[in-house]
Parts: sequence; structure tokens; C-alpha cells
Amino acid sequence: MDSLTPQQRHANMAAIHGKNTKPEVVVRKWLWGHGYRYRLNHPRLPGKPDIVMRKYRTCIFVNGCFWHGHEGCRYYTIPKTNTEFWVNKVKRNKERDSKVQHELAAMGWYSITIWECELKPVKREDTLKSLAYTLNKIFLQDRTVRQYEVFEEEQMMAAEDMTDEYRNKTTR
Ligand SMILES: [Zn+2]
Repeated sequence: MDSLTPQQRHANMAAIHGKNTKPEVVVRKWLWGHGYRYRLNHPRLPGKPDIVMRKYRTCIFVNGCFWHGHEGCRYYTIPKTNTEFWVNKVKRNKERDSKVQHELAAMGWYSITIWECELKPVKREDTLKSLAYTLNKIFLQDRTVRQYEVFEEEQMMAAEDMTDEYRNKTTR
């Protein structure tokens, strides 16, 4: 990385940072091929998630290890020149990521982060299978919660009916 000229580095970063970079496409294609449907860059959601899965109330972020500061990852090495600039830049990105995830959570959305290093050919299939597992788990969990809420609502309505009946009897 250090051997790059500033121009080369800029071109590199722009390529990594831009939309439709390869790692995102890998995730999308896999999901689509496995029957998962999604929207791209949902405009109304904070942080412009890379992939939005409404049915699962889930946003997927495919993060570059350098830009988003993947801790302990060998692809996250701060350049030895302009160190402070890069440290601050990555720090700001991480702060923004965390803020976005909190905002999404407050809106009832799950966030899943997939790191670029997890999409290297040797790890890819495992990563995506585990993503599918997580999505299915979220889906089932949400359904259980929803059914429970409906059940509680019905009970409350039943209770109200009974009070009405009782009231009718006593006023009569
Ligand atoms: Zn990484």
C-alpha cells in the first residue's frame, strides 16, 4: 500500500468506495441465486445500506476492511505516511457506521455487516451460508414475536368484551 503514489491510492480508494464494487455484487448474486429478494440502496434508510431485505427487516452492509477499520484484520493496516489523516478518516467512518446502525435499530431494522475479507474465495461460501442462517433466524424470530403480539391483542379485546358485557348486565 505504501508504495502507491497518492494518485494511485486515490484511484484505488475510489474503486473500493464506489457503488457496485465486486464484494457487494458477490453477496447480491449469491442471495438472489438462493431465492432471497432485496432492494438496493433504499433511499429512505439511514446510511444507504448496500442491500435492503424488507421481508427480514434487515440491512446488509458490505464493508471494505480498510475504510471501515476491520479490527484485527490484516487488510486493515494504516499507511505509514499520512498516518494521522488515515487514522482519523477510518475513525470517522467507524463512528458513522455505528451511528447508522443505532438509527436503524431504533427504526426496527437489523444490520448485518459483511467484511470484504470474509468474501475471499476460501471463506466466501461459509460467510454467505452463515448470512442465510442469520436471515432465516431473524425471520422466524420476528414471526414469533408478531404472533405473540397478535395473541396478546386478541386477549385484550376479549377482556374488553367481557367488561362490556358485565357493564351491560349491571346497568340493566
Ligand atoms: Zn477484514
